[in-house]
Amino acid sequence: MNKKTAAQITEALFAEYPEPKCALTFQDPLQLLVASRLSAQCTDVRVNMVTEKLFEKYRTAADFSSADPEELGSMIFSCGLYRTKARDIIAAAKKLETLEEFPRTMEELLELPGVGRKIANLLLGELFGEKNVVIADTHCIRLSNRLGLVDSKNPHIVEKTLLEILPENTGFRFSHSLVAHGRKVCKAASPACGDCCVKEFCKEYRQALKKEKTKK
Ligand code: SF4
Repeated sequence: MNKKTAAQITEALFAEYPEPKCALTFQDPLQLLVASRLSAQCTDVRVNMVTEKLFEKYRTAADFSSADPEELGSMIFSCGLYRTKARDIIAAAKKLETLEEFPRTMEELLELPGVGRKIANLLLGELFGEKNVVIADTHCIRLSNRLGLVDSKNPHIVEKTLLEILPENTGFRFSHSLVAHGRKVCKAASPACGDCCVKEFCKEYRQALKKEKTKK
């Protein structure tokens, strides 16, 4: 797909979702780090329910680093993968305790246990105002492929390709717009193409129309 079409899609999505926001509830960098780790294979709604109580009990990196894995695990059980997530959160908190400030670069963030590029990009955009980052989550990957912006399910390739074709400094907002659009219109099982603000640019929509025409 060319940059011009990518820019048209971006413009249409930004008009439809003027202020898309991160759906995770957090008050500080540590809370966003924990919430984003919990959100793997879990809904943001569930994570927010869990963190409401979790952040009352664990307030600092020291609280998390000294947490009993079983006890922490029982509090985050409903988010799934609770043993791994508890282990990562405790290890990340221990690492944070050794640092003078919260990591601010991709390289530093990737040093934290349990943090991959998806979480790191979210933290960079949400905490430090980085605009030229793409969060290659499930919505981003699904919609980018349907639209024809990318042709890969690999998060790294999706991230890299989008950064190459999107207008400068729109990646972070674009990522949030895709989440909003994926939740509201372009759902995984049943996209509501008739109500879609970017259908005129969408590869999958065009292919479906073509198919219908050849049937007639
Ligand atoms: S036209 Fe349909 S498949 Fe394409 S982005 Fe819109 S809802 Fe998704």
